[in-house]
Amino acid sequence: MSAHTTLSEKERAELEAKVANTIAVLQQAESEYAKDKVVFANSLGAEDVVITDLISKHSPSIGMFVLDTGRLPEETLKLLTDVQALYSNIQVDVYYPEAGDVEQYVKEHGVNAFFESQERRKGCCFVRKIKPLKRALSNREAWITGLRREQSVTRDEIGFKEFDEGNGIDKFNPLADWTEADIWEYINANKVPYNALHDQNYPSIGCAPCTRAISAGEDVRAGRWWWENPETRECGLHPGTPVVEAKPINVMDFLPK
Ligand code: SF4
Repeated sequence: MSAHTTLSEKERAELEAKVANTIAVLQQAESEYAKDKVVFANSLGAEDVVITDLISKHSPSIGMFVLDTGRLPEETLKLLTDVQALYSNIQVDVYYPEAGDVEQYVKEHGVNAFFESQERRKGCCFVRKIKPLKRALSNREAWITGLRREQSVTRDEIGFKEFDEGNGIDKFNPLADWTEADIWEYINANKVPYNALHDQNYPSIGCAPCTRAISAGEDVRAGRWWWENPETRECGLHPGTPVVEAKPINVMDFLPK
C-alpha cells in the first residue's frame, strides 16, 4: 500500500529543489568530516527512510545507526532487515542497551514500569535509548537527523546545520524545510521501504508498548506515551522537543488511503 499525497505541480517543483538541497547538505556533511566522524541517527521513521535512500544514492560513505531498545515493534524490526538488505552499499549499525542496565531496571521496577509514572518512563528511556545514543555519538564530530521545522514550534527554527550543545557536536537537519506531504511524495515516487505500521494509523512510531494508533483529528504524535500529561511529555533524544506537537495538521491527509 502506498501513502496518499496531495502535492500540487508547484509543490512538486519545490520538492525537487528541496531534494537537491538535501543532497547538498548531506554531501557537505560527508566532505566536512572524516569518515566515521559524522553519522546518521536512523529511527526508521518516514523521514529517516528518505534520508537513508538519499545517503545510499549520493553520500554512501556516511554511516548510520539504529537504536534497538529491545521493545521495538515487529514491523520496525522487519523494516530494519529490509533496509539492511536493500541498501547494501551503506553501513547500518545497531546499538542495544547494556544488558546490566536493563536487568537492574527491571529488577528494581518491573518490566513495564514505564506505565507507572513519568519518572519510571524516563528511566526506561534513559537505559534503553539515551545511554545507547550517547555511546553511538561518542567520538563523533557531527550527526544527522530527520527533524523537520513543521513538526513543532520548538523545531520551527532549526537550521540545516547547527551546533548541538547537549551533545557538544554539530547537527545536520537536511529535511528541515520538508513537509509531511513531501516525505510521502518522495517515498512513493522512489519506492522507499517504510514501516508497515504507517498504513495502520501510526504516523509516529517508537517502542511497541509506548505507541498506539491515532484517531482522525488527533495530533500526529498523540500515540506516543499517550497516558502521560501532554504538557510534560518529551522524547529525550532531542531535548526540549515536546512529543505533542503545537501545530496540529490533518494527519488523515497524509495517511495511506
Ligand atoms: S519508549 Fe517506552 S519501552 Fe521504549 S525506552 Fe521509552 S519507556 Fe522504555
